[in-house]
Amino acid sequence: MTKDSGIVFNIQKFSVNDGPGIRTVVFLKGCPLRCQWCANPESQLVRAEIMWDEKKCIGCRHCIEVCPHHAVSLTEGRITVDPSKCGGCGKCFRECPGKALKNEGELKTVKEVMDVVMQDLPFYEESGGGITLSGGEMLAQPEFAVSLLKAAKENGLHTCCETTGFAKQEVFAEVIENLDLILFDVKHWDSGKHKAGTAVGNELILSNLKYAFSQGKDVLPRIPVIPGFNDSLNDAENLARVIKEAGGTKCQLLPFHQFGENKYEQLGREYAYKDVSAYHREDLEDYRRVFIEHGIEAFF
Ligand code: SF4
Ligand code: SF4
Repeated sequence: MTKDSGIVFNIQKFSVNDGPGIRTVVFLKGCPLRCQWCANPESQLVRAEIMWDEKKCIGCRHCIEVCPHHAVSLTEGRITVDPSKCGGCGKCFRECPGKALKNEGELKTVKEVMDVVMQDLPFYEESGGGITLSGGEMLAQPEFAVSLLKAAKENGLHTCCETTGFAKQEVFAEVIENLDLILFDVKHWDSGKHKAGTAVGNELILSNLKYAFSQGKDVLPRIPVIPGFNDSLNDAENLARVIKEAGGTKCQLLPFHQFGENKYEQLGREYAYKDVSAYHREDLEDYRRVFIEHGIEAFF
């Protein structure tokens, strides 16, 4: 990865939930956090990953035979790929007759990404949309993210990101320079509990949140409301406090959902929230009210 190219695992057009207007969302691979409820587990490692869908597999073993590096094997009834042996030739997933193997993550240049993004320029102009960098965590590929955002700005686009805010402040500062809107995840007010749920403490995150506001940036803190992690009224009170202390006046609540469950199966990984019910807006009205009472305009 360089400033000219990075690993991208999806480019999603016509998104209307990731910033204003109609947008193209570019998903960068890699994230320093390990949120136990993560809906995009395939995004966590920076390198490409091959996922296997048991339902589509016809058991022909062609992937095992065709791999020049002997990276594919049948282990306990599952097709698995050893990333330490994989040379990235693509034969296994390209030649899979059942389309059961899927590669997540591809090296793309800034130009390749921008060529796709610019196809929808008339829609951005009509709707006030633009480009959104998401992930994974775009701060895990900071040079590439800066280049993409600069290229977007040179083309007159509105720029937005979805971020965990977890990066050294000098890195964060350079990336946000070219951003018009920052959708900033705030997961827990207590650093120990933040670490228990995501594998990292919240100090850097809260300090970057404060920094972004201090630079006059348009920042929208977003709270994924996760059962048993940050969903008590005491959590709501303290989250409202840290947002206020950082300089915020509003936040978006994102009720927990289970959209990522199937992906854990395809990666052969355990899903910690397997039997946990999703939240709906009506479940979180009392929670939302706590923010309002503390001067933070909370909405879904
Ligand atoms: S090539 Fe595809 S269908 Fe055949 S065993 Fe491998 S994953 Fe299954
Ligand atoms: S991408 Fe190529 S090297 Fe990697 S597992 Fe598939 S066939 Fe083997």
